Amino acid sequence: MDHLDGRIRVVRGDITSLTVDAIVNAANRTLLGGGGVDGAIHRAAGPGLLDECRGIGGCPTGEARLTGGYRLPARHVIHTVGPVWHGGARGEPDQLAACYRNSLALAAKQGLRTVAFPAISTGVYGYPIEDATRIAVREVAAFLAGHPGIEQVTFVCFSDRDAAVYERECSRA
Ligand code: ADP
Repeated sequence: MDHLDGRIRVVRGDITSLTVDAIVNAANRTLLGGGGVDGAIHRAAGPGLLDECRGIGGCPTGEARLTGGYRLPARHVIHTVGPVWHGGARGEPDQLAACYRNSLALAAKQGLRTVAFPAISTGVYGYPIEDATRIAVREVAAFLAGHPGIEQVTFVCFSDRDAAVYERECSRA
């Protein structure tokens, strides 16, 4: 469904199938691939992506790095490293917010107009989906308000349950 005059939409599905300027990868600090969405993106992009990631030399939590999209329909991949959930008192909310802000800042700097995000940190990293979604929607809505060059942000949810949480949170934005 569309929100904020179509500038935010929520879809259920596989982020690797999206034809957008950039998909965001919930990577780990090595940028050398992993499970979950990271594994799916590397499998779909092919070995060229891992080669480029090797040359970057890692990424601190909360920051973001840009690569090509290789065999993906997306032109670029923005790799960001979400926090591991330790209960919420170790800076996790600020780090997760930084992932969304830094990913979008990188996209804007490159002149990219359409960006798709997975639910960063809510898989293996254990961030509670409701809390993570609130941060994701708040940060994306705030960024879009100040950056008309970003046309549309897509939240890609892997489950119906996650999509319902995103839809509810976006209707409040
Ligand atoms: P993290 O380590 O940041 O928690 P995960 O990849 O384990 O990252 O999970 C992040 C989210 O991505 C979860 O909601 C998971 O269900 C979802 N996910 C996994 N594969 C895909 C995919 N191909 N497309 C979109 N979302 C995916």
